[in-house]
Amino acid sequence: MELDRRDFVLSAAALTLGAPACAAQRGDGKLGYAIVGLGSYGLGMIIPQFKNCEHSRLAAVVSGDPAKARRVADEHGLPARSIYSYADFDRIRDNPDVDIVYVCLPNAMHAEYTIRAARAGKHVMCEKPMAVSVAEAESMIAACRQAKRKLMIGYRCHFEPFNLEAMRLAHTGAAGKIRYVRSEHGFVQGDPSRWRLKRALSGGGSLMDMGVYSLQAARYMTGEEPVAVTARESTDRSDPRFREVEDMIEWTLEFPSGALAGCQSMYSANQNRILLMGDKGRIELEPATRYEGNRMWTGKDGREQAVSPPPGPARTQFAGQLDHLVQCVRTGAEPIVSGEEGLRDMRIVEAIYRSAREGRTIRLDGRA
Ligand code: NAD
Repeated sequence: MELDRRDFVLSAAALTLGAPACAAQRGDGKLGYAIVGLGSYGLGMIIPQFKNCEHSRLAAVVSGDPAKARRVADEHGLPARSIYSYADFDRIRDNPDVDIVYVCLPNAMHAEYTIRAARAGKHVMCEKPMAVSVAEAESMIAACRQAKRKLMIGYRCHFEPFNLEAMRLAHTGAAGKIRYVRSEHGFVQGDPSRWRLKRALSGGGSLMDMGVYSLQAARYMTGEEPVAVTARESTDRSDPRFREVEDMIEWTLEFPSGALAGCQSMYSANQNRILLMGDKGRIELEPATRYEGNRMWTGKDGREQAVSPPPGPARTQFAGQLDHLVQCVRTGAEPIVSGEEGLRDMRIVEAIYRSAREGRTIRLDGRA
């Protein structure tokens, strides 16, 4: 299955299927993205990636800061009619240059802007975590389905060469029968006034941010869905950063094969790691899920060997992600990281919080 996934992702560049009329009218064949939220990720990471894309272009910006929006639009040659505020965002319905809306806002705003985008007839790329609750995630999927529009979650690691190679090795038995996965992700939070530390905007603490990478890694490395979770939280509530959200949380996932995953996230130390142990060896990544500079090696009988992924298209994980959704729009295929994939994570996230709160194991397979 993962080979199919990788082949599909890597062959996306080769597809030259018919583009919608608006792209054809523009003559470049690329589909247009509107970036909603000109913050550190939307402006700092995503917008600079369009130059690496084969099928995607920047078509509009949506911001609460008119001067910043104008500056970014000028830098990228966008016309004034392609600048939107949050209040007049729904006018985007009338902009034929925009095919896809990319939601790069605080977590609690993802549902609203995804649903408004779908109702405006646009496809949606939504950042992780997909939403702040299962109920919101379900309403986002329903809105996109009703509008017959694609919904993809910004899980960039599914387009990152080391993570793709680690999945391929794990799923083809390079480490033998998978027994255990460990994944830890964290960084040191500073300013207590940041939205990530405000529950109303973040939906939670480190789990809703870096914890999503640990959870995703456990699922994509095992290739299984967990049947139970047991979690524990440790937060110094006298620390002004952690009055509203958790600092450290760890959780153990149990998989049908008997494999376990020990996952963790925190806001008080920097870490970024994935380790898989099988009965014939191990696969390690550290750093594992950074924007660049990831490293991987395999281990067997006390020997370690560095692994480089096979050469693929000279695209970054971000460009691969942006172009993948375009190809899905063109071909009608479901994104490999669809809204349903985001919803699966949200269900587990809610169970992790519940387990930590109630001090007991929560079943995810409906069994008592
Ligand atoms: P940020 O704080 O740098 O940017 C947030 C943007 O939202 C800003 O432009 C801000 O002005 C705007 N905004 C609108 N209403 C706001 C409000 N009420 N409060 C605060 N900001 C408001 O955050 P970011 O790091 O760009 O994160 C945005 C989203 O992207 C989050 O969901 C985050 O999880 C995700 N993200 C993903 C990755 C990744 O690697 N996939 C990396 C970083 C962030």
